[in-house]
Amino acid sequence: MSKFLARRLVTRCFSSRPLHVCIVGSGPAGFYTADKLLKAHEGARIDIIDRLPTPYGLVRSGVAPDHPETKIAINQFSRVAQHERCAFYGNVKLGSDLSLSELRDLYHVKHGLFRLYLHMVLKVTKILAFQSLGGVFSAREFVWWYNGHPDYSSLKPDLKSSDTAVILGQGNVALDVARIFLRPTTELASTDIATHALSALEESSIRKVYLVGRRGPVQAALTAKELREILGIKNLHIRIKETDLSVTPADEEEMKSSRARKRIYELLSKAAAAAKGTSEGDCGQRELHFVFFRQPERFLESDESKGHVSGVNLEKTILESVGSGKQIAVGTGEFEDINCSMVLKAIGYKSVPVNGLPFDHKKGIVPNVRGRVVSGDISQTEPGLYVCGWLKRGPVGIIATNLYCAEETVGSISQDIEEEGVGKGEKEGSKGLMQLLEKKEVKMVGSSGWEKIDAKEKQMGIDRNKPREKLVTWEDLLAAASADS
Ligand code: NAP
Repeated sequence: MSKFLARRLVTRCFSSRPLHVCIVGSGPAGFYTADKLLKAHEGARIDIIDRLPTPYGLVRSGVAPDHPETKIAINQFSRVAQHERCAFYGNVKLGSDLSLSELRDLYHVKHGLFRLYLHMVLKVTKILAFQSLGGVFSAREFVWWYNGHPDYSSLKPDLKSSDTAVILGQGNVALDVARIFLRPTTELASTDIATHALSALEESSIRKVYLVGRRGPVQAALTAKELREILGIKNLHIRIKETDLSVTPADEEEMKSSRARKRIYELLSKAAAAAKGTSEGDCGQRELHFVFFRQPERFLESDESKGHVSGVNLEKTILESVGSGKQIAVGTGEFEDINCSMVLKAIGYKSVPVNGLPFDHKKGIVPNVRGRVVSGDISQTEPGLYVCGWLKRGPVGIIATNLYCAEETVGSISQDIEEEGVGKGEKEGSKGLMQLLEKKEVKMVGSSGWEKIDAKEKQMGIDRNKPREKLVTWEDLLAAASADS
């Protein structure tokens, strides 16, 4: 179905017949879908459930605190949450509090599973995957720590043992984390960064950050805007080896077919040239090292501090063409170490399967056709079950990508309502959900509970000259949600 047709169906499907929809996950994909469904179906009654007592998923817990412009999406999401036909049910966990089959009994459309619990997976070598040392974190853990996610607010990463951190991967998550290490803390103080993280960063001795990529500057996964931003940090020395910047005919081809690749290569080359004349700087100098053509082999364990990381062993790589303009990294058998006290794995996310839902383990997605969940071969769709966001298309794209993703999924729902009878028959929707949660004694946090958390965080923020001071423990969040107004 063309995008045009999908849009036509979305706008055409006005019906006042109640359509009970449950959306699991209150991140951007969930809210964009809710917005589009509310607009497309007069009869839609939407319940958004989330395992956290707070909505907005990635925008609250993933977007870097120094990117307030990205968080503006929250304004639109809160308008959706306040819509009379939409309700938020926080602190409700699919799996332990509710099963998928219970939701299927209550709703016409189980729309969902947008932002499931996402793991930062280590797809590297077996040694890396099974080696657990103090000081080695997934970027997700670290990001959730500085963003005050209640599951990781007590992480306590040691930022004082040395002056060096290594980040594996060269995507935008790696850049976010590097920026948080290297940006002057005076610039972070007025953001919504968690106070425990700001204090730790203020005392941090990390001055050198190594961003390690298994391929070259032409293939770096980051985007130009984010690269420009980090290159523009005041008093930051950029280190890039000149030899890493030489390009092969295959690289030239890649740049010819992608302006974005070319732009990134030019920015890195310019930064390397500008850094050429600069002196080494004093020992407190903040440095960002782009390390290309190196893949992680294993973590090194400290002799002095057993069980703690003291470095990363890297294998040098070369690129090999695999057709259709793609080049992959191949190990050369030559190794070198970078000493550090902290390693962050920022090599991508992978969704986790949900009980009762088909899952493509290789791609890390729920198999779907334009958002319709399919099991077995693609002719077998699961009626009334849809997917959107990273679980639908894999862990790529910016917040706004979910807008188009939601449009497509809602187009499929609208078509199925018209052609496949989705939405027919009586369903209890919210009423049944409330009864079930009560019966199971689930301490659900509704919209009013979230509003109390929101108001408290904003008030605490005013006192500290920040947009908000996040409550960072489950206890504090639940207490604020149930406090007398
Ligand atoms: P990503 O963009 O996929 O980058 C992953 C990085 O890890 C790449 O450098 C990749 O190298 C490397 N990698 C993957 N597997 C590896 C392995 N086995 N060994 C060594 N290196 C490996 O992932 P991400 O940074 O997590 O970002 C996810 C999505 O969110 C992206 O679309 C990103 O743009 C988006 N995002 C956007 C923003 C923003 O707009 N500000 C912020 C954060 C995230 P290869 O290229 O060689 O695979």
